[in-house]
Amino acid sequence: MHVIHVAKNPMEAHLVRALLADEGIESVIVNEMLQMAQGDFGLAPSVAPQVALLDLRDAERARCLVDGMLARARAESSEQTAWVCASCGEENDASFELCWQCQTPRPVLGSKGQDEAAGAS
Ligand SMILES: [Zn+2]
Repeated sequence: MHVIHVAKNPMEAHLVRALLADEGIESVIVNEMLQMAQGDFGLAPSVAPQVALLDLRDAERARCLVDGMLARARAESSEQTAWVCASCGEENDASFELCWQCQTPRPVLGSKGQDEAAGAS
């Protein structure tokens, strides 16, 4: 077996498996039961549900499909996540481009380093 993806939760593992199945790639989910037993205690990477391929020859195609799916999911979640205003600390709905309280623009994702650099100068 060849693990193609370590999922954050069983739902993600099933999404990946369904995606691969659509493309005719057979896979299995391992560790799913272990995680259920783990409950709400958080999970270490070693017990996260994993999607494993039955046929290694599918690995490269599966990798591309999974990467594409994850990239789309990330793009969607960054659009839909509420954000906290860096200026006044107010939480803003994901649809707002400006803070509803002080009109500070929504921070660009991944700009943390820039903020630190600006503070140092
Ligand atoms: Zn604000």
